[in-house]
Amino acid sequence: MYQTGMREECGVFGVYNHSDAANMTFYGLHALQHRGQDACGIMAGEGGSYDIHKGPGLVHQVFRDDILQTLTGSIAIGHVRYSITGGSHFHNIQPFIFNFQKKTFGLCHNGNIVNYEQLKEKLEQKGTIFHSDSDSELIAHMMSKDVYESPIDALKRSLVQIVGAFAFIILLNDELYAIRDRNGLRPLSIGRLEDSFIVASETSALDAVGASFVRDVRPGEIVRIDTSGLHSFSYTEETRSELCTMEYIYFARPDSDLGDMNVHDFRKRTGKKLALEHPASADIVMGIPDSSISAAIGFAEQSGIPYEVGLIKNKYIGRTFIEPSKHLRDRAVLLKLAAIRKVVRGKRVVLIDDSIVRGTTLKHITHLLKEAGTKEIHIRIASPQITHPCFYGVDISTTKELVMASTTKEELMEYYQVQSLEFISLEKLRECSFDQGLCTGCFTGNYVTDIFNRDAKEQ
Ligand code: SF4
Repeated sequence: MYQTGMREECGVFGVYNHSDAANMTFYGLHALQHRGQDACGIMAGEGGSYDIHKGPGLVHQVFRDDILQTLTGSIAIGHVRYSITGGSHFHNIQPFIFNFQKKTFGLCHNGNIVNYEQLKEKLEQKGTIFHSDSDSELIAHMMSKDVYESPIDALKRSLVQIVGAFAFIILLNDELYAIRDRNGLRPLSIGRLEDSFIVASETSALDAVGASFVRDVRPGEIVRIDTSGLHSFSYTEETRSELCTMEYIYFARPDSDLGDMNVHDFRKRTGKKLALEHPASADIVMGIPDSSISAAIGFAEQSGIPYEVGLIKNKYIGRTFIEPSKHLRDRAVLLKLAAIRKVVRGKRVVLIDDSIVRGTTLKHITHLLKEAGTKEIHIRIASPQITHPCFYGVDISTTKELVMASTTKEELMEYYQVQSLEFISLEKLRECSFDQGLCTGCFTGNYVTDIFNRDAKEQ
């Protein structure tokens, strides 16, 4: 996936009842690597005894063979992360492991709790000491009363107070718990592999370990996995499915299914709608690799304009290489992508991108195409204009970093020096989801939950 300035916070994975649970988790996290590349961790064990290993870096860097061999047992949970809430310090790397009453439990979290400050303050007033700045630790402290004797009650009591986006996997009493927030903002699916159960942020990770899809965890649901199978509990009646639209547009892998929709199919539909809503006279259609390719294929199919591969991605430029400074990050766009001159020279090009966040990446790409001799560039964006920040775990947390919050379409066309620039409308985007509930907060400013101190957060 090509980084266009927006990053997902995390991916979670869990295995129940498999002799090689840690290895399975290793492969599962590999399949979720696109959701977080800063750090990762695996906790594994059984019979109340667990080991954990975690660290900064990619999954294959953190888990060498000799380390994986130390993680034995039939139950495991794992996590890949970007650092948003809490920064990238070691103590914020998950899984979190907690000890209460001489017992251990582990927790992985994807998402962001918006009333974190309020809940944390309440607990601190009662004497709770926090060891990290991460909102994931909150749930552990909230649950600590009765956590072993009556886990479902402890979970229900805690979860009902939490506002925001969360997909949790919790390892407790040799049982695995999979939980989603009441709006199902972050995805979480359950799979089966013979006698084992797998839980993962995306179905592509189930496929990666050979598991078959069973079902999604429902909004507001706690699924307990134990020796007798799956058990469902609800912690609230107030549920409404509103999965993050950007999961479909950008974050998730095209081979994943979210809800009832395949991500590639969804993206293709956005491309088709774009072609109908904002046609262009051009010779070829191109997508920016990787997340815009499906929409570009859809645009080409609908418009009859041939799809071409005009941009090539260098897959071997590592993240560490591109991270150290803004200057290097900007250069990295040029190093990471190359235009195929023979394809684009003298051509009128429809260039499909999934979204515009900060707007700088597209500037580099249009420059690259012009240098390669492109005659005209018509940009089509497969999401509406992002004008508001996200409070649910995506790193677009301030208004000022969003170019479309302060720039007109015409100004951006001028900046990019392109012939046209159009976005899919929210109405057409909704049609692509067959009216399945979606969060569209970053396009509209209408969020699915209370945001708490919104003015202070949104600058
Ligand atoms: S505000 Fe945007 S990025 Fe955040 S959860 Fe909603 S749709 Fe996703």
